[in-house]
Amino acid sequence: MTYRKTMKRIKVDVKREVLRANDMLAETLRREWKDRGILVVNLLSSPGSGKTALLERTVEALKDKYRILVLEGDIDTERDAERIRAKGVEAVQITTGGTCHLEANMVMRAWEEVSGEDWDFLFIENVGNLICPAGFDLGEHLRVVLISVPEGDDKPAKYPKAFMTSRWLVLTKMDLLPYFEFSPEKVIEEARRLRPDLRVFRTSAKTGEGIDEWVEALEETLHTLRETGPSAG
Ligand code: MG
Ligand code: ZN
Repeated sequence: MTYRKTMKRIKVDVKREVLRANDMLAETLRREWKDRGILVVNLLSSPGSGKTALLERTVEALKDKYRILVLEGDIDTERDAERIRAKGVEAVQITTGGTCHLEANMVMRAWEEVSGEDWDFLFIENVGNLICPAGFDLGEHLRVVLISVPEGDDKPAKYPKAFMTSRWLVLTKMDLLPYFEFSPEKVIEEARRLRPDLRVFRTSAKTGEGIDEWVEALEETLHTLRETGPSAG
């Protein structure tokens, strides 16, 4: 075997080990969160799709009834966490220092700072990127992918893994539909080709369209998580 080939194989093995360690930690976190009755939601999208805007609407709707924690993944700013705190909800910033996705160990370190309190919902805003965040399990119970109207309707075909691994799809900025060439039907059809049971929400954080339905679905999912009892093992 050539030197180059050997190097390539070693690199691949290291990557596999990193992912295996990540997945084991994610499983531990998922079990802890389930046992404590905390629903954990991981939001994935490109930069600027409106993850923070959707979260602002979401925490406004839920904060009087539930204890909500938000973990904000960002390469190097606190801005999104500050937007959430401005709504009166606790947010912990995770700055990845250049890494373009969150990993379970980053989430665990942030979680340890606030795990002493009781929470109902934990929302994780991943780093804006549709590629590698899809490869890292963070221990969430529910993965949600967002696409905004301005970014185009070809995303499922381009980034299949984000769609295959998400249970819900949120179309955002629906108020902009008249101004863009964007077919919600095309997106939904292509996304469901990758994931037939994908649940879809059409929303606008600006007008409030679809927010009630999204929030109700989150509440139902929390109740279902709690009804199914503690995890085995
Ligand atoms: Mg954001
Ligand atoms: Zn990355």
